[in-house]
Amino acid sequence: MRIAVARETEPGETRVALVPELVGRLTGAGYEVAVEPGAGRGALIDDQAYVAAGATVNENALHGAGLVLSVQPVGLEALRFCAPRAATVSFLFAGQRAGDVAARQAAGITTFAMEQVPRISRAQSMDALSSQSLVSGYRCAIVAAGRLREFFPLSMTAAGTVRPAQVLVLGAGVAGLQAIATCRRLGAVVKGYDVRAAAAEEIASLGATPIDLDLPTLDGAGGYAREMSEDRAALQRERLAPHIAAAHAVITTAAVPGRQAPVLVTAAMVAGMRPGSVVVDLAADSGGNVEGVTAGGVVNVPTADGLGSVQLWGGSNVPSQMPGPASRLYAQNVVNVVQLMTRDGRFDPDPADEIVTGMLVTHPSLTTEAP
Ligand code: NAD
Repeated sequence: MRIAVARETEPGETRVALVPELVGRLTGAGYEVAVEPGAGRGALIDDQAYVAAGATVNENALHGAGLVLSVQPVGLEALRFCAPRAATVSFLFAGQRAGDVAARQAAGITTFAMEQVPRISRAQSMDALSSQSLVSGYRCAIVAAGRLREFFPLSMTAAGTVRPAQVLVLGAGVAGLQAIATCRRLGAVVKGYDVRAAAAEEIASLGATPIDLDLPTLDGAGGYAREMSEDRAALQRERLAPHIAAAHAVITTAAVPGRQAPVLVTAAMVAGMRPGSVVVDLAADSGGNVEGVTAGGVVNVPTADGLGSVQLWGGSNVPSQMPGPASRLYAQNVVNVVQLMTRDGRFDPDPADEIVTGMLVTHPSLTTEAP
């Protein structure tokens, strides 16, 4: 069977679903691998590297393919050349594209969504949400360090002492913890806050100080957070305000599955920071944790003291800003999925496997015939 690797078409998407180092895992399992020309260009991977690894590179890679790998979902138009009952593996975020999902279902395509890999230990090697959050968290810390006109670490020199930057990280899931770890490695003094009960210990284990706001924790299903009530949100903001005012850099990564990002920092709180401070909002794509943020842009917010401004940086497809490592990690996740779905030498997902059923969004047997 042919596995096709699609060239991404969404603006700003620089990742690729398969890297040359992993082609051998698929050809070794008996698959033919065909890559669309230029698929790796955004991640600085040359077509020739795929050929050297045993793949073919051609414009008709999807023609006759039984399985299509991509980061963003491939459009239905491009999938019409695939083999009958072909399958796709990519991020889908079905909740945000109901019409598209219905069309895939009607077209008889089997769709597996990478963001729906269950968060169980057996599926950790396939968990692309985690691998891409790791990249985002690292990137956010580097952006904060790069934009701040202050040292992150303490430096004691003959000329005097340079005091370390104070960083506050809000939301300590996979991305937040990686941001904390990176800021700590750079020498900043870091505080962290999250609504989940387990987070305080995780923050402390990285050498940062967990903030206790004396508010009830909000643990939801599957290890995720629950949404805050507006009363609690207001109280949380009020109690966080002094910590935000004291920070040189604030990094926000808070999310609640299926909901808009919670607003943790108001415009007034940003304006209350000292001039030259930096706020990095990883949640900007889903509405933002910080009032006034622009996804993919920087807003200079004048400080209330009239002495300067705060840089408010909004993340947009942040993993695409580090396409090499993001692609390598994503490709590992995808190849592990394909390996799980390969039985007796062929692509044959086990309908009794909870990882397979968790990822499955559309399937031909679910198709209702048009009247
Ligand atoms: P996420 O991206 O959904 O959210 C990021 C963080 O924001 C979470 O830690 C959440 O608690 C926090 N948050 C939500 N509302 C907030 C608020 N109002 N104020 C402050 N923080 C807020 O989460 P994630 O990074 O995908 O991870 C969620 C959980 O899943 C974590 O406990 C993580 O350790 C766990 N996890 C488990 C596995 C596994 O078992 N295989 C894999 C990955 C993650």
